[in-house]
This record gives sequence, structure tokens and C-alpha cells, in this order.
Amino acid sequence: MASKEARERRLKEIQEIAAGWGKIVAREAFPDGPGLDVTLADMEELAIAASRALVKGTVETMTGSQGEQFGEEAPCPICGKMCSLKTVPRPVVVRGGDATLNEPVGHCPTCRRDFFPAAAGVED
Ligand SMILES: [Zn+2]
Repeated sequence: MASKEARERRLKEIQEIAAGWGKIVAREAFPDGPGLDVTLADMEELAIAASRALVKGTVETMTGSQGEQFGEEAPCPICGKMCSLKTVPRPVVVRGGDATLNEPVGHCPTCRRDFFPAAAGVED
């Protein structure tokens, strides 16, 4: 884990990059520039829609990458038998938008139960 200062510096860099994407969104929406009939509320609505899409894409990419780290099998938290994992989509509401998490889920045929390898070790 990077130091707090390094994380803050990296976050500032990412915010600057995202601000640049705002210019791209504006140009995509209004290639010739917004007319004088475009209100601040219209601009805000476009920016919020783009922001929600950014949140969705970022969260789904990062959680998908984490899910891939579990591989194709995980041990059953009850009996320890290696079980194959499948990916199950789960819609969630996150700050700033909605996202669909593709979570790895295992099924143990011996214990006849599903389990989430991310929560392995935590009894439910
Ligand atoms: Zn089991």
C-alpha cells in the first residue's frame, strides 16, 4: 500500500485526467459548442449522466479485476473441498451511480451450499 501522500498525489492526478474527460463529453454532446439555448441545468444533467457512467465503468472494472484473482476454484469454507467458481451478476447502488458486480460464487455439492470466496472464513 502506497503512502498517504502518494495516494493523495495519485488521486489528484486521476481527478485532473477525469476533468479532461469532461471536455471530451462536452465536445461529444455539442461538437459545434453549446448553443445559447442550452441552459446550465442541461449541462449539469449531461455531466451527471456522464459521471454516473464513469462511476459504473470504474467500479465494474475494478471489482471484475478482483473477481478474476480468485481463479476458477476455491475451497469450500465448511469442508475445504475445492469447488469450481462461476460468476454471478449482482446489481448494486454505489455512491454516484449504479453498477453490476460480477461476483465469483462457488457451490459445494458435498455441503449443498453456495459460498462467496471473498467472504471465506466468515460464517453466515
Ligand atoms: Zn463443502
